[in-house]
Amino acid sequence: DKDLLQNVFIGAIDAGTTSSRFLILDGAGTPVAQHQIELDQSYPRPGWHEHDPQQLIDSVRECMEKATADFTSKGHDVSDIRAIGITNQRETTLVWDTETGEPLHPAIAWPDTRTQALVRELKEREGADELRELCGLPLSTYPSAVKLVWLLRNVDAVREAYEAGRLSFGTVDTWLLYHLNGGLEEKSNVTDATNASRTMFMNLHTLEYDDKLLDFFNLDRNKLRLPKIVPSSSPDAFGKVSEGSLRGVRITGCLGDQSAAMVGQKAFTPGSAKNTYGTGCFLLYNVGEEPVISKHGLLATVAYHFGRDKKPVYALEGSIAVAGSGVKFLMNNLGFVEQSHEITDLAATVEDNGGCVFVTAFSGLFAPYWIDDAKGTIFGITQHTTQGHIARATLEATCFQTKAILDAMAKDSGQPLAELAVDGGMSASDLCMQTQADIINIPVVRPAMRETTSLGAAFAAGFAVGIWKEFHELESINQKGRTVFEPDISEKKSAKMFKKWSKAVEMCRGWSD
Ligand code: ADP
Repeated sequence: DKDLLQNVFIGAIDAGTTSSRFLILDGAGTPVAQHQIELDQSYPRPGWHEHDPQQLIDSVRECMEKATADFTSKGHDVSDIRAIGITNQRETTLVWDTETGEPLHPAIAWPDTRTQALVRELKEREGADELRELCGLPLSTYPSAVKLVWLLRNVDAVREAYEAGRLSFGTVDTWLLYHLNGGLEEKSNVTDATNASRTMFMNLHTLEYDDKLLDFFNLDRNKLRLPKIVPSSSPDAFGKVSEGSLRGVRITGCLGDQSAAMVGQKAFTPGSAKNTYGTGCFLLYNVGEEPVISKHGLLATVAYHFGRDKKPVYALEGSIAVAGSGVKFLMNNLGFVEQSHEITDLAATVEDNGGCVFVTAFSGLFAPYWIDDAKGTIFGITQHTTQGHIARATLEATCFQTKAILDAMAKDSGQPLAELAVDGGMSASDLCMQTQADIINIPVVRPAMRETTSLGAAFAAGFAVGIWKEFHELESINQKGRTVFEPDISEKKSAKMFKKWSKAVEMCRGWSD
């Protein structure tokens, strides 16, 4: 009943790469209050990317307080907030002392490439070829496991805590849950299956830690406190908020950001897909209740697990390390624009890329290429090249990689996609989305409410407390006001552009230090 659903509310914590947010949505999926805080990005050395663990939790807490104040000032009642869901940047690795809760190092963020040499070494290790079958991921700088191994080798405090059996490891979800629950209890040491599937420690089939994987990384389960893996939607696994205005509200949903976007886009049927253009860009394709191990450079991952009598649902994933962060690069490093959205106007000052191709491989190239030693490279510069061409080439880079991912997905799944659902910060650029439709030659569909990540976290939380019981009840949510970008250039022209991109990718290899 619609009126009823407008009087129940769900909180969504969105702990992204560039910002923390808290949204309060009603049961019809409409945001009624929100607050957002930008996160500091620390790049202490080339290739390194860190977050301050304390800021991760402090910013979330502040967002919760401010959004809740806004919510009550609008005449709503906190007691109508029935549950909270969490969604978060994935793979980002945190370590802390189990006894004191003190972080032992800054969080190593997912795009960080300090592990490049380590990954080369691990690839030579016996058993390296069998990992993918177990956990769905190839060895690269991306998953948490290699980040943790780097910490154990290079940071005394981390190694000492490990040897003393006091090392806690977690991704951002676990770190937030630990704090929101008030710390040191058993219940606060959890993660959901979607986040765990990005660590490289979890067996994709059993959804449990696998000794073969831990052994490969020489990790001893008895010395390391790993969070318990639970379903993404669960009435009692994540505890409740222990302080502040939302004290006592249950946390009942937890999903990695890309999974949350998939749930928020309601891509529940096998064969549906979504692409989220945030800091990076991530295409997830629903493959149903059995994982598909890619033969063409994609990842296999848990899409979501709604628990109880429901089986986990898996996805094939194409991960692109640089999307919106390319826009930020033009803004912060090259001074092209002052705000992200101005990039579209700059790109629109030229008709096309003028022959300029930008492989934005700042963190190597991820899917489907997996070239760890690639570096960002701009090709085709002439006297004619302007900022506009480079801006356009930056937006196009994500579109070309998306095309490469869709080609790989069609090969793995045997089925080409009919249309692509999109969201995330950079999807606000009409020019970028039109370019995307042109390059992949299928329609690109953008919902009116682009906070699909928060919506997904709210769905997971709402299901656990019975606000919805079946997926079809979500059908009408966020359906109105969608924008459809139809392909507008010939397939021949887009194939020609893509060929140039592919050539550029081949030429950006081999730039390791
Ligand atoms: P995340 O969850 O990874 O923090 P968001 O989905 O919030 O990311 O998207 C933020 C990214 O989107 C930033 O890198 C920003 O530069 C980019 N972005 C935001 N708005 C626009 C826009 N109008 N055009 C192009 N890029 C944009």
